[in-house]
Amino acid sequence: MNKRHAAITSLLLLLAAAAPRSQPAGTRVFTNLRLVDGTDAAPVGGASIVVQNGRIVAAGPASRVTVPTGAERIDLGGRTVIPGLINAHGHVNDAARDLKTYAAYGVTTVFSLGGEAPPVFAARASQNVATLDRSRVFVSGPVLTPDSPEQARTMVADVAAQNVDFVKIRVDDNLGTTSKMPPEVYRAVIDEAHKRGLRVAVHLFYLADAKTLLDAGADLIAHSVRDLDADPALMAAFKAKGVCLCPTLMREVSTFVYEATPPFFADPLFLAHSDKAQIATLQEPARQEAMRKSPSAQRYKAALEVASRNVKRLSDAGVPIAMGTDTGPAGRFQGYFELMELELMVKAGLTPKQTLAAATRDAARCMKVDKDLGTLETGKWADFVVLDADPLVNISNTKRINAVYIAGNRVPR
Ligand SMILES: [Zn+2]
Repeated sequence: MNKRHAAITSLLLLLAAAAPRSQPAGTRVFTNLRLVDGTDAAPVGGASIVVQNGRIVAAGPASRVTVPTGAERIDLGGRTVIPGLINAHGHVNDAARDLKTYAAYGVTTVFSLGGEAPPVFAARASQNVATLDRSRVFVSGPVLTPDSPEQARTMVADVAAQNVDFVKIRVDDNLGTTSKMPPEVYRAVIDEAHKRGLRVAVHLFYLADAKTLLDAGADLIAHSVRDLDADPALMAAFKAKGVCLCPTLMREVSTFVYEATPPFFADPLFLAHSDKAQIATLQEPARQEAMRKSPSAQRYKAALEVASRNVKRLSDAGVPIAMGTDTGPAGRFQGYFELMELELMVKAGLTPKQTLAAATRDAARCMKVDKDLGTLETGKWADFVVLDADPLVNISNTKRINAVYIAGNRVPR
């Protein structure tokens, strides 16, 4: 180091010492809140959360949280704060629009299980920043439809090269109308994915397929079993492999609910961020009549009852549940449907606490993002929802959103 550099360094050190001890720009302290941190800990009244560079550096009772000098203070008026919701099965079509919509409803992370365009991949690549104010997204790329084991391995190699978070396949005959991927083909998909360090999410419908898929090593069951009630063999298969269930009850609802104009079309919260053109289309009388007369709609309506029973049975058996909806396709409204899914999970028999866990901590664990997301603990991203009422008392209170924060930034809504 030459003399000139040494002089400048000394001057900078002096200036640093003379300046008041302040934190880097962007340090925020949220005060006067009731903390439901997503762990098994009891809610904490009079809590604070300190956020630096988008992550939580302290969360707990105000008396035990040190507030850095110069931090921006945000008083949450005694409101309840919960971790941002994680949707383990959605679809992101238009990255900019959809990730804003999910965020507006407190769904701060979405696993898009198939069909993403390049801008969605770009959104994933650019989200580990302290300035983020839209939902986080993870991707699967094209849903694989191989015809042979050889083709299965080639297709898995192709999506692996795209650096996907999950491999997605469908094992379904769509109520007997299409051919179903044979076991030797999905076994090759799963084997090849595992060799490449990737996990496989499976769309399915039938109990028998769930068993053989679990046996083959499927990593996420991305819909409920909907033909028959879960039996002990299915429960044992889930548990032996430690696999999670993503119920997507709202997927079933979307197949029949537009046989008439549904009550939620009058909810201002729904109307605030949902697509007006789609809402108009779904109210066309001819379209509603077609759905009323559709045999598949009626079959999926019955399937919802089976699915709901199976969520409760599998949860009771100790199978981890990851909240998911299959939102994104037409008629499946992102954000609002996740809040309805929580209501359906409670209706199925889960407690509000179990339901909230399935949409936060447990979903994060199932999707292996729990190092960064799912609870409001030190080191994790500051993704949270501020509610005007307690969701542990009534899960519908997740609709009473006061504000949503992602990486500690207030989401425009
Ligand atoms: Zn899907």
